[in-house]
Amino acid sequence: MTELWNAVDRYFASTIVDEDEALRGALAANAAAGMPAIDVSPSQGKLLHLLARIRGAMRILEIGTLGGYSTIWMARALPERGRLVSLEVDPKHAEIARANLERAGVGDRVEIRVGPARESLAAMTEERFDMAFIDADKASTADYFAAVLDLSTPGATVVVDNVVRDGAILDDPDASDIRGLRAFFDLAASDPRVTATAIQTVGTKGHDGLAIAVIH
Ligand code: SAH
Ligand code: MG
Repeated sequence: MTELWNAVDRYFASTIVDEDEALRGALAANAAAGMPAIDVSPSQGKLLHLLARIRGAMRILEIGTLGGYSTIWMARALPERGRLVSLEVDPKHAEIARANLERAGVGDRVEIRVGPARESLAAMTEERFDMAFIDADKASTADYFAAVLDLSTPGATVVVDNVVRDGAILDDPDASDIRGLRAFFDLAASDPRVTATAIQTVGTKGHDGLAIAVIH
């Protein structure tokens, strides 16, 4: 099946997704730097872009920058005065991302904060965001989501990546990644501020999925 999934993703990419030279260049720079190819796919990046546009987001929070591929897609949805803050623990990733963002022309809209996301989030007492994308260490997903709830404006959109992982979400709740993801599902299901769903995806990144929530 994966060949078919890839072929359909390539068809989408060749028609409506519109990944440009700067985005392709970011992936090439990441590969050249030896970074893992765990970015969102082009069509998922475009989905993040569209969700930001639909929300009319002015302030976006990303947790997990890697080389800034998803960052570029979301930053390009911002109006000129809009801002994106992206949290990344690895200084080398942040440095590559910074260069990719400049090349994509969104460097002035994006601030990368280097350090453990947990600490960066704890320091954000005054800031508020109307969209968030959670895509860092999966074991901490529920903790990041809890923090994001407190930083959200009414009606904020939150996307959580990699919630399926080839179906692993169903097995082995003793693995810390899966425990973290399941704790996120439990929190999203029980917190009255959250309305959420999750969608399975197939394509160039295999079988995975993302959760989408609105925060009241
Ligand atoms: N959002 C990116 C992919 C992110 S990959 C994209 O789709 O293009 C996950 C990133 O989270 C990696 O760069 C990793 O270094 C970072 N990360 C892992 N643990 C972290 C932590 N505790 N705090 C902040 N970032 C972390
Ligand atoms: Mg991801």
